[in-house]
Order: sequence, then C-alpha cells, then structure tokens
Amino acid sequence: LMCLGVLVGACGPKPDIYQSTKPLMGTVVQISVVSEEPRHAAKALDAAFDEMARMEAMMSVFREDSELNRLNREASERPVAVSPELYHVLELSLKMAQLTHGAFDITVGPLMKLWPFYKKEKVLPSPTAVQEALSRVGYRHLVVSPTDQSVSFAIAGMSLDLGGVAKGFAVDRAAALLKSQGISAALVNAGGDVYAYGTKPDGRSWRVGVQHPRKATELLAVLPLTDRAVVTSGDYERYFVVDGKRYSHILDPRSGFAAREAASVTLIAPCAAEADALATGVSVLGVKAGLALVESLPDVHALIMTEGTAETLELHLSKDFPYAHLLDEAALAAHGVRMHRSAH
Ligand code: ADP
Ligand code: MG
Repeated sequence: LMCLGVLVGACGPKPDIYQSTKPLMGTVVQISVVSEEPRHAAKALDAAFDEMARMEAMMSVFREDSELNRLNREASERPVAVSPELYHVLELSLKMAQLTHGAFDITVGPLMKLWPFYKKEKVLPSPTAVQEALSRVGYRHLVVSPTDQSVSFAIAGMSLDLGGVAKGFAVDRAAALLKSQGISAALVNAGGDVYAYGTKPDGRSWRVGVQHPRKATELLAVLPLTDRAVVTSGDYERYFVVDGKRYSHILDPRSGFAAREAASVTLIAPCAAEADALATGVSVLGVKAGLALVESLPDVHALIMTEGTAETLELHLSKDFPYAHLLDEAALAAHGVRMHRSAH
C-alpha cells in the first residue's frame, strides 16, 4: 500500500508556479500562482488581472471616466450612489483617517492638483494657493450614507484621491479572486504593494524584498510572507527636487506640504488595503507617532527609514517586529544604515 501511495504521488500532477506581469495602476503588477494545471493557472491569472483593471477603472484619479471622478464632479451638488467596492474603500479610508488623526486623508484631491508631481515643469504652489486648497480638504466633510451607499461633499469643490489606498485594495481583490478560483497559494505584487497566501510548491514561504530607499538595487531585508500584506510607501519613486529639497507625493493634510520625515515606511498587516493606507498615514505621522499607532494595532508592524546624516539612514522597527532576527545589524551598518528598535 505504501508503495502504491508513493507511485501515485510520483505520477500524479505536480504543482508548479505560474507567473504573469502586466502594467496596471501606474505600476507593474506581477502575480504568481501555484497550480497543478497550466490552463487553470492561466484562467485564474487572467481573472485576477481583469479584476485589478476593473478596480483601476473605478478608482483612478487619472481617468476622466472613472467612477471616482464622476463622484468628484457630482458630490458637491447631491449625494451620489456608488458601487459596493468603491463604497467599501471610502468607508475604510474614513476609518483610517480617524485612526491616523487625519494624517491619512483621501480628501487631499485639491492639494494634490496643486503639486506638479505629474507635470514637466516643477513650480512650487504659492502659500495662498495651498491655503485655499486646504479649505476644501478634510475627511470630516466627506458624508457617507450606509443605507443607500451614497456619498456627498459638505464643502463645494472637495475632491477625493485614492492613490494612497486603491492599489492595496486592488491587490486584496486579486487575492480574493484567486482564492475563489481554487488557487491554493499566490503572491500578488503591485509595485511594492504585496499580498501573499499559502506556500510555494516546495513548502517554503513566499519572499518579499524591502528596498533601500536611496539605493535602488539594494535590499534592506528579504521577508518570508504567508497570509499577510507588505506595503512600502516611499519618497523615492514619485518625487521631485527644487532647490535641493525633496518633495514627495505624500502630503501632510494639516499643512498642505509634503510629508518630510520618513524616507520609506514598510507596513505589514493582514490585508493590503489597510497596509497601504497605514503606510501612507505613517509616512505623514513620522517615527514617534507612527510607531505608537502601529504598536496599538493588532497584527500590524512597521519598518520606517529616515535620513540620518548626509550619507546615513536610520532604520526604526515597531515593537515585536516579527522579522527583526532577519535584519543583520552589521551588514546594514556597512551600507550606512543604523538600526533602532522601538523604545516604547
Ligand atoms: P505609492 O503610490 O507610491 O504606493 P502611497 O501609497 O503612499 O504611495 O500613496 C501616495 C498617494 O496617495 C499620492 O500620490 C496621493 O494620490 C495620495 N496621498 C497623498 N497624500 C495623502 C495623504 N496624506 N492621505 C491619503 N492619501 C494621500
Ligand atoms: Mg499607501
């Protein structure tokens, strides 16, 4: 009987990793799935990419015809009923705004439009323009109605920008879709917003690299990941420099100016939407308030990089960071990175 078992095992279908890559949501999305059947894998991959494309079409601020932009055009005038997925992201975003005391705030639309992140000419907005835009920012003025899933703006001229949360949400949707298609293990990576579940065919965990925020080809660490999201928000991919000052695309909704303290925030959480929003929020909060918030949340961990002196970086870990043993203090020091463990 045992022999038979071994034989059947050897001849039966063998699981493999199937991988596909597509440009989506302003980045490159890579999905890996484990399957015993190439056609099943291909079908699941297609369905997952289609779902992410659907989320992009719904939530992109860069597409005139997105549901989000229709909402932005109409919600100053009347309550607008929205799709369940969009409604869910808006509710989650409000929850994150409350948790972060407004550091994460999707009503930053009017401010984002002032900053030339996507323009060739890098001219800084005037303080008066920033003040005017700030008068149309504030999550408390976003009114959601659970009974009819409608949304309206309490102040005319408000506008929502889901750039800090939609990618993570789309990653969660892709993973949920793969699970529903019977895929037992997968990794979804949307340019640094990652969710992984199950294990690879050899029984090992998926692995996710955390990039050095100032040296594009270097990794600070490689984290094994199962049933978790890892999301990194950095000032090193979308930013510009004027007069030697770096302006990141993460804005502090209190001042209207770029968040300055963190060079990157890597957030680990049970789902990618939450991790994405928290990574953006913690970037605004900075090390002290950011770590205090993370440490108050169950199953949430953070690795924050800040600039030290000219050539060095400081690495800050939240208390009980689950991968602390994988960070090699001496190797990091050789790359100009000084490690701090949370004192909380
Ligand atoms: P990335 O897109 O590089 O993953 P983030 O997840 O940090 O980065 O999102 C940054 C984006 O979030 C900005 O481009 C903008 O669309 C939006 N945003 C900027 N500042 C805030 C903020 N304080 N709260 C919520 N969203 C923000
Ligand atoms: Mg984010």
